[in-house]
Amino acid sequence: MANIFRNIPSVNELLESPQLKKIVESVNHQVVVDGVRTFIDDLKETINNATDDIEIPSPAEMADKIADWLHVEQKEYLRPVINGTGIILHTGLGRAPLAKSAIAATVQIASGYASVEVDLASGQRGQRVKAVEKLLCELTGAEAAVVVNNNAAATMIALATVATGKEVIVSRGQLIEIGGSYRLPDVMECSGCKLKEVGTTNKTHAADYSSAVGEETGAILKVHPSNFEVVGFTKTVSAKELVSIAHANDLPMIDDVGSGALIDFAKFGLSNEPVVSESIKDGADIVLFSGDKLIGGPQCGIIIGKRKYIDQVLKNPLMRAMRVDKMTLAALAATLRLYRKEDTAEQEVPILRMLSMPEANLKLRAQKIAEQIQSASWLESCEATQSQSMLGGGSLPTQKMPTWCVAIHPRGSSVNRIAERLRSANPAVIGRVQKDTLLIDMRTVFPEQDMILVELLQALDQQDDAPQQA
Ligand SMILES: *Cc1c(COP(=O)(O)O)cnc(C)c1O
Repeated sequence: MANIFRNIPSVNELLESPQLKKIVESVNHQVVVDGVRTFIDDLKETINNATDDIEIPSPAEMADKIADWLHVEQKEYLRPVINGTGIILHTGLGRAPLAKSAIAATVQIASGYASVEVDLASGQRGQRVKAVEKLLCELTGAEAAVVVNNNAAATMIALATVATGKEVIVSRGQLIEIGGSYRLPDVMECSGCKLKEVGTTNKTHAADYSSAVGEETGAILKVHPSNFEVVGFTKTVSAKELVSIAHANDLPMIDDVGSGALIDFAKFGLSNEPVVSESIKDGADIVLFSGDKLIGGPQCGIIIGKRKYIDQVLKNPLMRAMRVDKMTLAALAATLRLYRKEDTAEQEVPILRMLSMPEANLKLRAQKIAEQIQSASWLESCEATQSQSMLGGGSLPTQKMPTWCVAIHPRGSSVNRIAERLRSANPAVIGRVQKDTLLIDMRTVFPEQDMILVELLQALDQQDDAPQQA
């Protein structure tokens, strides 16, 4: 046993190998030294624990292994992905891809200095929200607006501003959890408010709210149940009614509309998604929504409403902790500008383009890709197939859109293995595994990615563990 350790090359010996020298040059010395030490330690441990004799790899083989391992380690954790899942607002994949003009604005503003908090007309200090407030007010009819890091932050700061230490009345049918980490009761607790639940899971009446109002009440909160639906015998109280109950008691009505549709999504065949301007029209005092759901902009939380409340939010010390950076402001402003003409938004905002993509177009693209990869040796068969896409991001969970996918049936090696290899490609590709088939939904793949997809799928052939053709 002791002898065998003498056959392990030294750290310095391994560092002399050309593969590792190259990594020292491109990354740094310490990373490679650490990698070599870890590898040697692991090898010694394997030898110690082994019951049989172990063959020590040659120094060259070891250097190869260490280099491969370091290459994997050096891969960025955050990498571009071709989204073949068919889920348009995939939270795991960063929700909405940005419009070209939003990308250009972000790059331009990020590249240098910008008038983030300077009013260029007067030369005086300005509010950072000015970059988007006018647009938000114009598009929604609100008096004032402010932007924070996401809708969870918007909810927290709005509640902490108007109702801290007080009760906030919410229907039991609206106590939502979104994506595991967002739970309304927890957010409310963090903002220092007491949750006052009223009604039942399926039915809440106006009288439930009005009889719950008391000395302790700070606000009435309405929450859009974005990611679930209650069907059957149900009753909810409209925003208008809640506003009148709130105002009769000198309270603000806060409306968390969730996805933040600026236009009516019924035109895409998606019903029941509240439009932000409707809530303002109904008289809500504070309206909250995300920037990266149905608006198709950057991650942020938007708070609009009465000037009086927005000014209070701006003065809340939490604002400093939740404010957005110049890149978010640039991307949001550019995205909002597209909505001044609905047609322009539909043509330029990627998620709206995906929603309105004709089925015939998706079918043609799926057929073409299937044809082009037909001869790949790892493939058993491949064809265009009909399926269903989803909106995702916690929006409209029960409504699906007909779509077309490339259905991939790998030969021999399992579908999960193929899915794994596509995930480690560059760009990574993520599809839907359905039994023995990998589906790539064309609705969420950008047309300009079709060729890249074909090349990546063909390139799977060249990988060493691909089954060899006879
Ligand atoms: C998505 C959503 C949230 C959370 O928004 P984030 O921007 O993800 O923080 C809160 N409320 C509702 C109703 C939602 O749909």
